[in-house]
Amino acid sequence: MALYSEKVMDHFRNPRNVGVIEDADGVGEVGNAKCGDIMKMYLKIEDGIVKDVKFETFGCGSAIASSSMATELIKGKPVEEARQLTNQAVAEALDGLPDYKMHCSVLAQEAIEAALKDYESKKEE
Ligand SMILES: [Zn+2]
Repeated sequence: MALYSEKVMDHFRNPRNVGVIEDADGVGEVGNAKCGDIMKMYLKIEDGIVKDVKFETFGCGSAIASSSMATELIKGKPVEEARQLTNQAVAEALDGLPDYKMHCSVLAQEAIEAALKDYESKKEE
């Protein structure tokens, strides 16, 4: 069995939604020490819907593929659904990740959580 699924390789080679949203409603940045991944997630939210999402990831291929897939999964979805995205769902959408790379999908989930938290705190002001 190949180490990475074709979907992981596809999203790693052609990541979706890479970039920065200048006037983002929520920004989340997380990192992990295990393979030195740093992930920054930008959300544009209108009427409770994730209108746009972009990310920057410095890290391993799994982290890039996970954040790319995660953005695809939440784009156009209600905030409530984005909040419930799990790293398992991201890994499943990628047709699986090697066990020792699961933490990279956790990072994608945490980056979205952090961005949503930022969005909530801005909204309360
Ligand atoms: Zn990683």
